[in-house]
Amino acid sequence: MGSRDYLFKVLVVGDAAVGKTSLVQRYSQDSFSKHYKSTVGGQERFTSMTRLYYRDASACVIMFDVTNATTFSNSQRWKQDLDSKLTLPSGEPVPCLLLANKSDLSPWAVTRDQIDRFSKENGFIGWTETSVKENKNVNEAMRVLIEQMVANTREGSISVSSQGDYINLQTASTSGWSCC
Ligand code: GDP
Ligand code: MG
Repeated sequence: MGSRDYLFKVLVVGDAAVGKTSLVQRYSQDSFSKHYKSTVGGQERFTSMTRLYYRDASACVIMFDVTNATTFSNSQRWKQDLDSKLTLPSGEPVPCLLLANKSDLSPWAVTRDQIDRFSKENGFIGWTETSVKENKNVNEAMRVLIEQMVANTREGSISVSSQGDYINLQTASTSGWSCC
C-alpha cells in the first residue's frame, strides 16, 4: 500500500581519525578522500559529549581503527558515556553498532575474538569490520542499523501514525547526514 518516510538521527562517535567523517561522506555521497584533513587534528583522547548532542538519536555507530588499540579500548568509554545519557522513548538502550574500521590495513592491533567478546560484553547489537576506503561493508552495516531503527519505531509506544498532525519542520529540514 502506501510508503512512509522515516527520519532518523544516527550518532557516529569514536576517537579522532578512526574514519567517522569518511564514513559519513562515503555513505551520503559515495566518495572517499584520503587527503581529507582532520577537523580535530592530533586529538586522540576520549572526550565525553553533551547530552544535547546525543538527544533524540535513534541509533549509534561507535567506530575504532583496527590498527590502533587505544581507539578500540576507548570504544568502551564512548559506549558507557552514551548509555548514561541516552535511551529510547521506551527506556531501551539505543541500538549501537560497533565498526572495526580500516580493515584494509595491517597489522591489526586487536583480534576478531577480542572484538567479538568486547561487542557482546558491552551491549552492542553487533559489530563488523569495515573499510570506508575500499567501501567494504559500509552499506551493509548501515542497512542493519536502519532495519533495527524501523523495527523499534513499529514496536515503540510512539508510532508515527498515532503522533498526530504536527510536522516538525525544524527537524524535517535537516535531512540526510551531517557531521562535524
Ligand atoms: P575522523 O576524525 O574519525 O572523522 O576520521 P577521518 O574520516 O577524518 O579519517 C582519518 C583518516 O583515516 C583519513 O586520512 C582517512 O582518509 C583515513 N581513513 C578513513 N577510513 C579509512 C579506511 O577504511 N582505510 C584506510 N586505510 N584509511 C581510512
Ligand atoms: Mg572527523
